[in-house]
Amino acid sequence: MRRLFGTNGIRGVVGKDMTPELALGIGRAAGTLYNGAIAVGRDTRTSSDLLANSMISALACTGRAVVDVGILPTPALQYHVKTRKLGGGVMITASHNPPEFNGIKCIDSLGMEASVEDEEAIEAIYFEKRHEITTWEHIGHIQQVRDAVPRYVESILAKVDKDAILKRKPKVALDCGNGAACFTSPYLTTRLGCSLVTLNAQPDGHFPGRLPEPTAANVSGLMRVVKETGADIGIAHDGDADRAIFVDEKGQYIFGDKSLALLAGEELAGKGGVVVTPISSSSCIEDVVKMHGGEVHYTRVGSPIVARKMYELGATFGGEENGGMIFPGHQFCRDGGMALAKMLELLAHHHEPLSELIAQLPQYQLFKTSIPYPAGLRDQIMEGVAARASDAKVIAIDGVKILHDDGWILVRPSGTEPIFRVYAESKSKTRAEELGKEGVATVEEVIRKLGDQASHRSSE
Ligand code: MG
Repeated sequence: MRRLFGTNGIRGVVGKDMTPELALGIGRAAGTLYNGAIAVGRDTRTSSDLLANSMISALACTGRAVVDVGILPTPALQYHVKTRKLGGGVMITASHNPPEFNGIKCIDSLGMEASVEDEEAIEAIYFEKRHEITTWEHIGHIQQVRDAVPRYVESILAKVDKDAILKRKPKVALDCGNGAACFTSPYLTTRLGCSLVTLNAQPDGHFPGRLPEPTAANVSGLMRVVKETGADIGIAHDGDADRAIFVDEKGQYIFGDKSLALLAGEELAGKGGVVVTPISSSSCIEDVVKMHGGEVHYTRVGSPIVARKMYELGATFGGEENGGMIFPGHQFCRDGGMALAKMLELLAHHHEPLSELIAQLPQYQLFKTSIPYPAGLRDQIMEGVAARASDAKVIAIDGVKILHDDGWILVRPSGTEPIFRVYAESKSKTRAEELGKEGVATVEEVIRKLGDQASHRSSE
């Protein structure tokens, strides 16, 4: 049972759960587990320098050489670890969370987000205080390098059809959200010959422009600017720029499952392959993948799980519905810069505007709600839901997904609160709602039955 690490590293409010002491402790534990030199990067948050300095001191204390790569997107740090063949990396970031948060994300020597096993090992060393402290003559060397960002940018430019994009000269509105993307995406788009309008492109940990999560509500300014400037596309990143969200030329927000499906089709075209995505993703992705002769492999929710499965399977493409996309030709992690460049390449290779390319995708309607449940009954509720769905096809990778001919229901416990999330999807809105209500009714019935059994037992 993990006590600190969640789906995407350790997160907390600065000064409360996220303190220099915690960064020191996790740094000493990570330095004890990992071998070789460790790269330390950070996002633009007001607390990131402070936490990174604690992290760097702790790693050096355990005898690890430290490469301080400064402020950069998480995928740029991951690219540096992988290509410089370092022992690992640590990113100080709270990704899309509000400004008062920060976090710690550990990266393994392959440049992938740490495995559950590594995170558990780090936690065990931390709680059992089994960290190593070296003597004065073995303290790790601390070196500042400033080539991680340009190397990441160059590597992306080398992996897309630059000539086609240069010829197309797309007009781009780019919202860096005052985050780490300020150091990469304006340069990527300029080098690709785009005519560029930027928003929130000055790094600022107070996030004066908008909150770091690129939701439709948070990027409404970008949607307006796209329309007003007649841009071909709008692009927005989250705080550490591992995600990219797009806006079409009409100023309409494109949900992440649609951009994922669109790019999946492009990556598989003419060659097929495996696409990895969490069980909660829209069937739109599976439809597109099958259309191109490929197959979908479903995983539990969480980008580290998707990336690792892609690595194991030698997948062609993968990602999540939140704008996190993974291009194995570059690296096995969510990669906001690569997603930006690949979307510009897609626009250059097609003649239609982005809104039309999106309209050509299979259209699905999603129903989403949540139900609170009594503590301690999580597993019994899931078993009960699966048992009641025995006639239908059930996938139990993460929660219970019930497949119907014309849609599906997914009942999944939240990782952080005592609630079950109920999702349902179908091509028709009425049917999606019907399936969703069926899911809700099943969960409520199971909870009621379990309650009856408990009160029956206590009255015996
Ligand atoms: Mg992120």
